[in-house]
Amino acid sequence: MDKVICNFEDVIRNGITVGGIHYRIVIVDEMAGNTIGEANYERDLITLKRCEPQRMQETLLHEIMHIIFYHSGFDEHNERDISSIATWLYAVLKQNKEVFFAILNTRQGANS
Ligand SMILES: [Zn+2]
Repeated sequence: MDKVICNFEDVIRNGITVGGIHYRIVIVDEMAGNTIGEANYERDLITLKRCEPQRMQETLLHEIMHIIFYHSGFDEHNERDISSIATWLYAVLKQNKEVFFAILNTRQGANS
C-alpha cells in the first residue's frame, strides 16, 4: 500500500511524478538573478532556491504548473497565468486540506 506523504522534506526527497514522468527536486542556495525555481523538462528536474518553506512550496506548485503546461503542449507559458494558477491552487490546497486528504486516501478500486 502506498504511503501517504505529508511532509515537505519527504516530497523533496521523493520528487514528484507528472504525466508518468518522475521529476527529481533539488534545493540550491544560489540561482541566477531573481529566479527562485526552475523546471528542466529535458533533465526531469525541478530546482528550488532555499528560502522560507511556504515560498518554496508555492514555487514548487508554480514549477509543477509549468510542467503541466509543457506536457499539455503549450510551448509558450504566460508567467502571469502560471503564477495566478499556482497561487490560487496553493490557497485552495491550504484551505481545504480535508478534501485533498480524502482524495489521497481513496483506496484503489473505489470509483475515481
Ligand atoms: Zn514561472
